[in-house]
Amino acid sequence: MNGERQVEAVIAGQPAMDGAGVKLTRIIGSPELNRADPFLLFDVFESDQPGDYIGGFPPHPHRGFETVTYMLAGRMEHQDSVGNRGVIETGGVQWMTAARGIIHSEMPKQQDGLLRGVQLWVNLPARLKLSAPGYREFAADAIPAEQLDGARVRVVAGQTATGVAGPVQGVVTDPLFLDVRLDPDRRFVEALPAGHRAILYVVEGDVTVAGQSRVVARQLAVLGDGDRLAASAGPEGARFLLFAALPLNEPVARGGPFVMSTREEIHQAFADYQAGRLLDAPGS
Ligand code: FE
Repeated sequence: MNGERQVEAVIAGQPAMDGAGVKLTRIIGSPELNRADPFLLFDVFESDQPGDYIGGFPPHPHRGFETVTYMLAGRMEHQDSVGNRGVIETGGVQWMTAARGIIHSEMPKQQDGLLRGVQLWVNLPARLKLSAPGYREFAADAIPAEQLDGARVRVVAGQTATGVAGPVQGVVTDPLFLDVRLDPDRRFVEALPAGHRAILYVVEGDVTVAGQSRVVARQLAVLGDGDRLAASAGPEGARFLLFAALPLNEPVARGGPFVMSTREEIHQAFADYQAGRLLDAPGS
């Protein structure tokens, strides 16, 4: 479908608690918006009160999808059952493909100060849900920035119309992930593949999408179809995260940290986890 993407819904999410008492705002994966295929969950954590985050996310499993963590401020340490370990800091990204199974911990690597970031869950097609897990991590300096007139765009995944490519490539849902800073009253236009689902989360300031829908800081907009995004900043400028990816149009069954296609597969995931077989290759 050609044309500018319009805003279909603006969502603020709701307070939630996960891990060992981490306070967060759940925007996708909530009663307000169960999912925006292929996006299954969008959480925001933001606090300068250590009590809100210090418990972190002790070891827990995932199966059937990918988790993307992007840090806006602070440091988080990741460790997993596949042997990966790393600290993601401000401007860094972690792209974890849980696939058939990963057990990991995500812990704040700071005692105080602001911790702010987002976590997005991206679904995997049924045929890849039991494939081998993968892990990628890129620090801020590995993420290229494109300087446009009035805008600075960090390209995390996919590539822009001018060919600036992010470090995350080769993901099955063909994701585009941009971190866009817009100068006051400036307009940003970027090609988005028609048919891809797109969401936009405003980090700071406010943007007006397609000349008509205003989205303010801490709101997420689900965009309708189209082949480009036009977003204008207000007088304070704006920063927003833009994600687009191919919808899978497949059945989704959820069970806590597992997202599969059927209830039976969810029961199997819990049984495999309890038996210590979550990470085993199918049939082994
Ligand atoms: Fe996790």
